[in-house]
Amino acid sequence: MKADPATQLRLLDLQALDAGLDRLAARRRGLPEFAVITERTAALGTLDDEVVGVRTELGDVTRVQRKLENEIELVRTRAARDSQRLESGAVTNSRELENLQAELASLARRQGVLEDDALEKMEAVEGLEGRLAALAQRRADLQAEVDAATTARDKTCAEIDAESARLRQDRAALAPRLPEALVTLYERIRVSSGGVGAAPLLRRRCQGCHLELSGGDLRAVAAAPVDEVVRCEECRRILVRTPESGL
Ligand SMILES: [Zn+2]
Repeated sequence: MKADPATQLRLLDLQALDAGLDRLAARRRGLPEFAVITERTAALGTLDDEVVGVRTELGDVTRVQRKLENEIELVRTRAARDSQRLESGAVTNSRELENLQAELASLARRQGVLEDDALEKMEAVEGLEGRLAALAQRRADLQAEVDAATTARDKTCAEIDAESARLRQDRAALAPRLPEALVTLYERIRVSSGGVGAAPLLRRRCQGCHLELSGGDLRAVAAAPVDEVVRCEECRRILVRTPESGL
């Protein structure tokens, strides 16, 4: 393939723009904020599941607690009624009096058991409410981290995208000034050679594979016509001769 020396140097400019675009794309992909957002968002999901579990438990315990309070209320009412009857002097039959006193004693025991139970449930409610408060705090912290990472990511991405747009614009202006066949060859090599399709020869070293050209190869490159597009014998990249090539 033939291309005059100035065109070959322009190919290096194209390579520099493509390398810049690759670096920006890699930087965008590797932004640590992406991992932070993914990880914290997953943690928020787990936390929300936990909140649902604790709320369900709290609802169950609260229902039992209310039921106990209603029962306590019934027992109290019953005991008050019995006490009233006892104190009114209306009951004179001794058997009936004994029964009434026995029932009052039984109601008092029952009330004690129910009140112990209710206290236990009250403590359970407090414990669950405490857990919900801690989870809410943890949730707020995680959300703040997600928000901060999102803001930082968006800012950096906007900068990267603006820079990429500039490089793409330069590339769009430069590419049409190069022979299509040369660009096609360059792009084919670039894809198969880690993003570098054309490299300068600097001080006898190919800047694509960084190997020094052997005497024979160097002589062949030096002898090739200036408009001949030469390739590195080691890496097969397009090797562009410059005044610093050491030929
Ligand atoms: Zn090479």
